[in-house]
Amino acid sequence: MNVVIFGPPGAGKGTQSKFIVNKFNLYQLSTGDLLRNEIKNKTELGLKIASIMNSGELVSDDIVGSLIEKFISNENYKQKIIFDGYPRTLMQAKNLDNLLKKQKQKIDVVLKLSVSLETVKKRILERQTQEQRTDDNEEIAIKRYKTYEKSSEPVLEYYKKSNLLKVINGELSITEINTEISGLIEAIKG
Ligand code: AMP
Repeated sequence: MNVVIFGPPGAGKGTQSKFIVNKFNLYQLSTGDLLRNEIKNKTELGLKIASIMNSGELVSDDIVGSLIEKFISNENYKQKIIFDGYPRTLMQAKNLDNLLKKQKQKIDVVLKLSVSLETVKKRILERQTQEQRTDDNEEIAIKRYKTYEKSSEPVLEYYKKSNLLKVINGELSITEINTEISGLIEAIKG
C-alpha cells in the first residue's frame, strides 16, 4: 500500500501520517523533514534551500525528486510508503508515477485533508510553540497556504482523473480523521 497525503501546511499531514505508519506498518517519507535535515546538517543542499523554505516557496522539482528517488528505490520500503508533502506540483506527481513504475509500484490512494486558511493560521501558531520551525509564523504560513493554493489544483485534478482522490474534512478532530482514514485504507486493502 502506497499512500499520498495531501493538503495545505497545518492540515495535519504529519500527524495523520504518523498514525497511518503505526497502524498499517508503512514508512513515512516527508520531503519537508528531509529538507529540514539538510539544513540542520548544513549540507551544500541545505545552504541552498534554507532561504527558499523560510520564504514559504517551493524547492525545485529536481531537488525534491532526487531526494525521493533514493527512498523509492530502497527494497525495504517497497509498496509501503506514505508520501507526506510530496507531490506538490503536477510535475512532481508525474515524476512520482514514473519513479514508481520503474520499481513496479503504484499509488493506491491519495488522501486530501481540506482545511481553511483560518484553521491553518491557528494550528501553525500552536505548532510554533512546540516545534520551533523557522517557517512557522503567521506571515509565512499565509504565504505557504497561497503557494499551496496555486500549485495544488492541477495535482488534485490529476489524481481525480485516475480515481485515486479521497477528500477528508481536515477541520475534524485528530481522532475523527484517524477513524475516517482507517476506514478508507481498510476498504482499499480489501
Ligand atoms: P512541509 O514540512 O511539508 O510543510 O514542507 C516545508 C517546506 O519544505 C515547504 O514550504 C517547501 O519549501 C519545502 N518542501 C517540502 N516538500 C516539498 C515538495 N514536495 N516540493 C517543493 N518544496 C517542498
